[in-house]
Amino acid sequence: MSINTQRLVILGAAESGVGAALLGKQQGWDVFVSDGGIIKDNFKEVLTLNGIEFEEGIHTSDKILNAVCLVKSPGISEKVAIMKQVRAAGIEVCSEIEFGFRYKGDSKIIAITGSNGKSTTTKLTYTILKDADYDVAMVGNIGYSFARQIAEQPCKWYVMEVSSFQLDDIHQFRPDVAVLLNITPDHLDRYDYVFANYVESKFKITKYQNADDYFIVNNDDNVIKEFITTHSIHATTIYFTMNENNAGNEGGYINNDRLHIDYEGDNLDMSIHDLSIKGKHNQYNSMAAGISARIAGVRKEKIRETFAGFKGLEHRLEYVATIRGVEYINDSKATNVNSVWFALESMKKPVVLILGGQDKGNDYTEILELVKEKVKAIVCMGVDNSPIHAAFDGVVSTIVDTKSTDEAVNAAYSLADHGDVVLLAPACASFDLFKNYEDRGAQFKEAVKNL
Ligand code: ADP
Repeated sequence: MSINTQRLVILGAAESGVGAALLGKQQGWDVFVSDGGIIKDNFKEVLTLNGIEFEEGIHTSDKILNAVCLVKSPGISEKVAIMKQVRAAGIEVCSEIEFGFRYKGDSKIIAITGSNGKSTTTKLTYTILKDADYDVAMVGNIGYSFARQIAEQPCKWYVMEVSSFQLDDIHQFRPDVAVLLNITPDHLDRYDYVFANYVESKFKITKYQNADDYFIVNNDDNVIKEFITTHSIHATTIYFTMNENNAGNEGGYINNDRLHIDYEGDNLDMSIHDLSIKGKHNQYNSMAAGISARIAGVRKEKIRETFAGFKGLEHRLEYVATIRGVEYINDSKATNVNSVWFALESMKKPVVLILGGQDKGNDYTEILELVKEKVKAIVCMGVDNSPIHAAFDGVVSTIVDTKSTDEAVNAAYSLADHGDVVLLAPACASFDLFKNYEDRGAQFKEAVKNL
């Protein structure tokens, strides 16, 4: 590999930016990191320890526009002033996964994207490979960034959670296995409120794949089905579906409550009731993870064992406690309407739903029927609850407004009867009242414990 002494500038100094900086430094680039905000202490320490020059609270044009290559962190929008200058200067811009890809050697990548289920499917796929003794790392939004993992502890396999923002600036990134779970509206503020732009970004996961690669796709997703016909897919496409008609094809399907993964004759067939993570969405996630693992060469018995024992992730339909016969569930990560649909779909008891936060232009009609059927009361928890009232006044008889987890949990406690479930599934981002969704989930759990 040739050593490069050219200027590499990295915008944003969080996990992916710092990862790219470490890898760049290791590969001999002249690295400079610029963050318009305040850099967290732990990241500052890593940069300092590795002798990487950085600035914070400012983007100094002179130190940035001399870059040969610029790695843009996924959180940075094209609309910020410095990005406009970078584009005008014609500098090559790549995302951190693109940068990492150039140094991955002959390792293999399973890359997972979608609007919902990325983290769960990534962790599940990683766990299957790990349980089967593969030399594997979990990277991306969960765990280390890809670039940092390559710099510090390269592996033979990477299971990677990939967001649309990471895909926006790829030029060669070519996963051996790409998974597209679903596409529903999200993050439209970053895509000029044009849904097709967001869809395009998701499809980039397969753009540079070739005939040796695999593209694993949800065949029940109408958006994917529509857009796949307008893309030329070079990889071998393998589908998963809830539709038993898929029987006979390689891929995944559900038939009579049994989950099937058919791949090269070593076919898995197990009851959906034996999956440790519940809900239809997790059946989709399991099919996607299982097919990926089969392609990676894991035998069906191993996959079955991990499916049965896998512990779901925190803040995703996480059981918290049962108090006076009322179950409390934390789904703080349900930050869009579609994930709330799946949460409600999996509820078997009357629901007191805690909803609200920073609205991303939600269209609640998707959950209207399920709300009518299952929700007895809504507890709004947000600074501006008007979109929720607009959608559900007159549909749900009891809707109360609160502005903290303590208030919300107390309200839910008094509204719920023995045999009900209190579900935190906000459908919104958390930034109006909380640091992030983890903070919201943690505060919810704390408030439940204090009941
Ligand atoms: P992501 O990383 O894409 O945000 P997560 O696995 O963290 O996905 O799950 C986010 C939310 O979406 C959670 O509320 C979870 O219960 C729900 N969810 C998980 N998988 C799916 C899926 N396949 N379809 C719809 N919702 C899902």
